Amino acid sequence: MIYHPQKYRIADKRTEPFIDAGEIWSYLNGVKADKQRVRDVIQASLDKKRLSLEETAVLINTKDPDLQEEIREGARTLKEKVYGERIVLFAPLYVGDLCTNNCQYCGFRSSNKGIKRVTLSNEELVAETKALIDQGHKRLILVYGEHPRYSARFIAETVEIVYSVKHKNGEIRRININAAPFDIQGFRIVKDAGIGTFQIFQETYHEPTYNKVHLGGLKRNYEWRLTALDRAQEAGIDDVGIGALFGLYDWRFEVMGLVRHVNHFEAVYNVGPHTISFPRIQNAHALNVDKDNLVSDEDFVHLVSILRLAVPYTGMILTAREPAHIRDQILRFGVSQIDGGTNLELGGYSKGKHQTQDLTKGQFQINDNRSLGEIMDELINNGYIPSFCTACYRLGRTGEHFMEFSVPGFIKRFCAPNAMLTLAEYLEDYATEETKAAGYRLIEGKISDLSADQKVDKLREKINEIKQGKRDLYF
Ligand code: SAM
Ligand code: SF4
Repeated sequence: MIYHPQKYRIADKRTEPFIDAGEIWSYLNGVKADKQRVRDVIQASLDKKRLSLEETAVLINTKDPDLQEEIREGARTLKEKVYGERIVLFAPLYVGDLCTNNCQYCGFRSSNKGIKRVTLSNEELVAETKALIDQGHKRLILVYGEHPRYSARFIAETVEIVYSVKHKNGEIRRININAAPFDIQGFRIVKDAGIGTFQIFQETYHEPTYNKVHLGGLKRNYEWRLTALDRAQEAGIDDVGIGALFGLYDWRFEVMGLVRHVNHFEAVYNVGPHTISFPRIQNAHALNVDKDNLVSDEDFVHLVSILRLAVPYTGMILTAREPAHIRDQILRFGVSQIDGGTNLELGGYSKGKHQTQDLTKGQFQINDNRSLGEIMDELINNGYIPSFCTACYRLGRTGEHFMEFSVPGFIKRFCAPNAMLTLAEYLEDYATEETKAAGYRLIEGKISDLSADQKVDKLREKINEIKQGKRDLYF
């Protein structure tokens, strides 16, 4: 694999190839998963240690169903011990589906002539934002195809437009991005618009498979993609999100690739990625991928548990690609963010209806059609605290997942109270009477879990202020 430091303008030590397929396979083929070793690895993670590639391979190679259950149990324990019961909610907002790439798994690919091509006008973008605010959202991820029209400046402008919308009591307080990679200058422009996380999924870490499914446009270049978030870091974006599209190649290899990518960030920038995404391929218009590597539900649950243990401080995102029953099951294994009320159709939110499954109007099929309200009810009834918190990002506390993980008491002092404050806002402005009653009961219960020194009086004071009409209060 050849890197071009001049071209990417990344300092030398950052250009070392960090995905070595031979190394990954030697772990996967060589590491044994005996009982004691599996238990030691789980314990290492519960002791808050990020797992090595070798340790991750131990978990991947665990075939005994009882030991696999111990891995899931470990992931559950880690989540409960470290993160508690908060689940952060967001929505994707597709801004444009023009695309010059030809990714064989994606409905937006350039060779697909059967899809409707739309780029939202500024007015449409405002209308979509208002519709999302009306659902109760505070955090969005803006999504774009890769096209000369979607330059860094264009993306920055759309971010500024969305932030500028004030609607009734609400506004969008954090915008993350999922878009094509830029050069360092481009990332700087997007950063200056005040984004949160920049997500770029490698799709597959296996280069031959990557080359087989990316048949056109800039995305054909594996290295340009693999080094993208290094350029983002160089540009000062320190919240980056990585991901693999599961189903393109052997899932075991992709898990190792993700962990290796994390090691790379830790080694070079001293901080791992903010989030990891692990989408499974869904049906899409003119989908053209082999079915050999599609991931079963069972393997999916297993791999999510392994990722939780392998990278214990990183946020994990599970989207509405997955059906409700899988989402509900996997929430327990360490997922920290989910989307709600999702509609991938361009302009679909302001039309006020659920996403249709007309694949000519969206990137791929989603399988969880629940409204945000329905998801809120379910989370509340299951004892989770739904959170729309954006405090860390707005106070410049970047690396918040790392702090949640490593700073004793951080969650009780900041995250849990802030989750409750944003939940109270939701209950006042967007919830039905029934949800409101259940939500305040939940808050009361959770407040009593906080010890007296955890600003309980201050928290109650702020909740009362929210009831009286104040908004956007946080610690
Ligand atoms: N065009 C940008 C890019 O490729 O990076 C934005 C990404 S795309 C709009 C968001 C992500 O959706 C992709 O990175 C890919 O992992 C995922 N995706 C594409 N087709 C999919 C499918 N059929 N099922 C599930 N996820 C898919
Ligand atoms: Fe374009 Fe992204 Fe879809 Fe590839 S995954 S065709 S780059 S929108």
